[in-house]
Amino acid sequence: MAAAVERVRAATRRHSERFERAIPLIASENLLSPYAKELLISDLHSRYAEGLPGERYYEGNEEVDLIERECLELARALFRCRFADVRPISGTVANLAVLKALAEAGMPVGTARLANGAHISSAGFGAFGLRSVRPVYYAWDEERMTLDVPATRRILKEQRPPLCLFGLSLFLFPLPIAELRDTLEEIGAVGWYDAAHVLGLIAGGLFQDPLREGCAVLSASTHKTLPGPQHGILLSDSDRPELVGKLQGAAFPGVTSNHHLHAMAALAVSLAEHRAFGHDYARAVVANARALGQALYERGFDVLAPDLGFTASHTLAVRVTREGGGEAVARRLAEVGIVSNKNLLPGDTSPKHPQGIRLGTPEVTRLGMGPKEMVRIAEIMDLLLHREGTADRVRADAEALKRGFTTLRYCFAAGEAAYRYYDLVGHPPP
Ligand SMILES: *Cc1c(COP(=O)(O)O)cnc(C)c1O
Repeated sequence: MAAAVERVRAATRRHSERFERAIPLIASENLLSPYAKELLISDLHSRYAEGLPGERYYEGNEEVDLIERECLELARALFRCRFADVRPISGTVANLAVLKALAEAGMPVGTARLANGAHISSAGFGAFGLRSVRPVYYAWDEERMTLDVPATRRILKEQRPPLCLFGLSLFLFPLPIAELRDTLEEIGAVGWYDAAHVLGLIAGGLFQDPLREGCAVLSASTHKTLPGPQHGILLSDSDRPELVGKLQGAAFPGVTSNHHLHAMAALAVSLAEHRAFGHDYARAVVANARALGQALYERGFDVLAPDLGFTASHTLAVRVTREGGGEAVARRLAEVGIVSNKNLLPGDTSPKHPQGIRLGTPEVTRLGMGPKEMVRIAEIMDLLLHREGTADRVRADAEALKRGFTTLRYCFAAGEAAYRYYDLVGHPPP
């Protein structure tokens, strides 16, 4: 075997083993179920199926048509909507599709600021810049970590953006779309919800329901709180055929050619699993986030929004200025096997030296951890960051905690097999 192949395989195995030992707290990450994972390495991976089911540009797509129809039906049922498109290959690509469909160069588009939790899609150096739209920033309520409704209303009436994006990557609380609905209608704006982070919570009935609250279109990743493959999705409950036509044309040929059929098949499995287990899973994810927030707060961590229960989602924001700043703290935690990320918080001026870290509970919940384990995680973080616990001691504690959680829950294979981080289904490593 070529040396490069061995190096890459070995690195992949080391990577997997590291995560197998780790406490994974990245809010945007999750684990794929065995049935979904199996389809990722199927022959579907080798194929193209441009177009829509029954209207393909390539031959050989009969089963792909069936898979895509199944996936669309599952998506429409899970999100109770008339339209789904599962061709965007990621959340960012889904956002590009919406911008291609509904915006034009120079158009003002409403969004939150990056420092208040918006995704880089809204940045000049991201999708907004690519489409040359002009961000109109909403007003932010730092106490409550959501939009300031009266001030945002004033901004919307003054600037009249025809497209208004609601969605965050630091997504603690539902956004007040229902409250702003009248204003959106008054200025004739289309509401657009980016559910990348909270798709699984929405499907589980644990967060807001943007398609019922005034958003005409929803874009998302399918691998964050929805524990699916890395992919994207577009949803709408609009009965306007021209809107649906624009979204479909933007998905293909606008922003994709191949739509990653293996991931689409895996997504169908994940949607079916979420229909069966999503409510229980979402409830456990949010309960764990609140429990972790409380346990950290009791140990002196500056967890944001203490008066509001810290979060209504899977995510916590912690200001770690006292502990050395977001960059240093995230690195020290990673060294002992607690994986998180540094994160901008409101008031941060330097994107390179943010004062926060972001923590999320989707992955640890999927492995069966509950409120007791959230307290344990807080104790371990407290030992490292407040009590001068040595890295070796803290790492041993974190690994001991993780060893008790090796079974994937909330999927059809639950309880059948321990979850292996390095498992090529049907092709075990030598
Ligand atoms: C993660 C994220 C995206 C991008 O998703 P990818 O699938 O990584 O491209 C888009 N929007 C928001 C709000 C996100 O958090």
